[in-house]
Amino acid sequence: MEPVNVVLVPANFIEISLLEFIGERLPEAYPVNVRIDERGIRVPPHVYDKERDGMIKSEKLITYLRAVDRWRLDEKVIIIVDDDGYATNTNFIFGQAEVNGKFGVVYLARLRPYEQDDELLYVRALKEVSHELGHLFGLDHCFNPKCVMSFSETIEEVDRKDWRPCNSCLEKLFKLMAMR
Ligand SMILES: [Zn+2]
Ligand SMILES: [Zn+2]
Repeated sequence: MEPVNVVLVPANFIEISLLEFIGERLPEAYPVNVRIDERGIRVPPHVYDKERDGMIKSEKLITYLRAVDRWRLDEKVIIIVDDDGYATNTNFIFGQAEVNGKFGVVYLARLRPYEQDDELLYVRALKEVSHELGHLFGLDHCFNPKCVMSFSETIEEVDRKDWRPCNSCLEKLFKLMAMR
């Protein structure tokens, strides 16, 4: 099976070691080639919502990303943003992605531990990137709380899950890939 190309793009921060940590591990969970785009991307001011304490409206960011002319045709794009985000009808989200699409976003603000702990932050970010990547492959949410594709409403739920998909999600993923 041909691996799928994925690019990780930092937004509003330059902690390349965080991206490297994620990029090295994702191929252990999915059939992917990962590269890191160290140029990063600036989040445009219009996607910040003044009425929500400057949180990013995630749908607006994804709409913006679709319009940006810099992405390779054969690549899935995951933006890792050092800010807080929400989606319509939510108070906040850890991340969002187009199901079976090209663009995913992960927000770091609520993944940061109260006391600085890079290892914990990196593992949490890895889980959320892995979750959004699963959506980009066409996976839905999973009811197994250990599976990375389970839906996390709280940071405790993020901490409880593994960073890889469960066997049943992996089986679905390979079926979806074979249908391409
Ligand atoms: Zn999800
Ligand atoms: Zn699962």
